[in-house]
Amino acid sequence: MLAEIIAVGSELLTPYRQDTNSLFLTEELNGLGVTVAFKTIVGDRKAHLMDAVSIAVHRADILLVMGGLGPTQDDLTREAVADALGVRLRRDGDLLAALYKRFAARRAIMPGNNSKQADVIESAAVLPNPHGTAPGQWLDTVVGEHRKLIVLLPGPPSELKPMFTSECLPRLRAVLPPRFIARRVLKMAMLPESEVDAKLAPIYTRFTDVETTILAHPGEVQLHMLCSKPFLELAQARVNELVARVEEEMEDAIFSSQGETLEQIVLYYLEIRGATVAVAESCTGGMVSQRLTSISGSSRSFVGGAIVYSDGVKTGLAEVPEELIEEKGAVSREVAEALARGIRRKTQATLGLAITGIAGPSGGSPEKPVGLVYIALDDGREISVTQKNFRGDRDRVRSLASQQALDMLRRKLM
Ligand code: AMP
Ligand code: MG
Repeated sequence: MLAEIIAVGSELLTPYRQDTNSLFLTEELNGLGVTVAFKTIVGDRKAHLMDAVSIAVHRADILLVMGGLGPTQDDLTREAVADALGVRLRRDGDLLAALYKRFAARRAIMPGNNSKQADVIESAAVLPNPHGTAPGQWLDTVVGEHRKLIVLLPGPPSELKPMFTSECLPRLRAVLPPRFIARRVLKMAMLPESEVDAKLAPIYTRFTDVETTILAHPGEVQLHMLCSKPFLELAQARVNELVARVEEEMEDAIFSSQGETLEQIVLYYLEIRGATVAVAESCTGGMVSQRLTSISGSSRSFVGGAIVYSDGVKTGLAEVPEELIEEKGAVSREVAEALARGIRRKTQATLGLAITGIAGPSGGSPEKPVGLVYIALDDGREISVTQKNFRGDRDRVRSLASQQALDMLRRKLM
């Protein structure tokens, strides 16, 4: 079963608005075992929309068209779909009466062009819209010799989502063979996407019944797996089998297998180890602290710390000797170590974590280029330091540094 989604609206072809509805619809369709094969975005031009619909009905079994169901001049979806299919529109008496009633309830006179919202494709069923004026339409028809489902939905997400859930899902379930979906997401920190794919492609490509997608963010690679089967147990078993093979290959590079974030995992480990952490952050300016404290319950393991941006504060709040900064520089292995030790001692935390680096774009030198970051972790017995040379702009260097710091903490606790 293949589906196509057509998003209608000239605003969706500008830099200011994105088609987000199709993400929701794709997730829902995938949940029914339906693959979305095409997504098309069309402006408010009748000829263009007719083209898009004509092409879509030939290549997809299910066609979802959203937007352009309002009362204004540029709302052309009803007419364009009817003309593309070569069918007529009928004006629905009940819908028209409901529209008049809606306006009367507000003591307003309905403008003439509103009545076109009562136009329905011949033989289509009306999908009520309790959240707005534009009803949806459900057309179960035959094009050529093939059965086609064509659904018109309103554009505003607050109307489309409840309409899809309450009106379309039950109708689709009645038509489609039962399918059950199992999903898993594995997350890995601080590995290049190409390296992950080189290791994992030979494994996941052999699971042809599991749809596998690799998504990369700075410092994080995610492996999304989805399997659809007539029975849930079958789908889960296949995904779990693939997860086990991937875990065997990647070992402790995987930090999460149920969708948890890195900060959630770090806090989980801190808690089960009965450990606490304090943070001294220079170039990340509090990003690590922000990430940890964004998780509810973090106060059980995160004691606090300091943003040790200037040399004076490094000395004052984290006990870094002035001479050490003068001799080695604020961005150095030695100062990172001293920061980790100092913040741990000051706060009496089990672990002290420190980050110092050059985020750029200015401030680099041949010996200490932009992207050079030192991360130190003191557990009271030994201090480990990681040196990194990150590439990218200021945002990227800072987020990679915070990701590396959290991953270092995780590995310490594992
Ligand atoms: P319309 O049904 O064309 O009158 O759309 C009404 C409003 O819904 C638009 O102004 C958009 O802000 C929003 N909208 C329409 N299509 C989409 C879409 N595909 N994704 C997200 N928002 C949308
Ligand atoms: Mg529109």
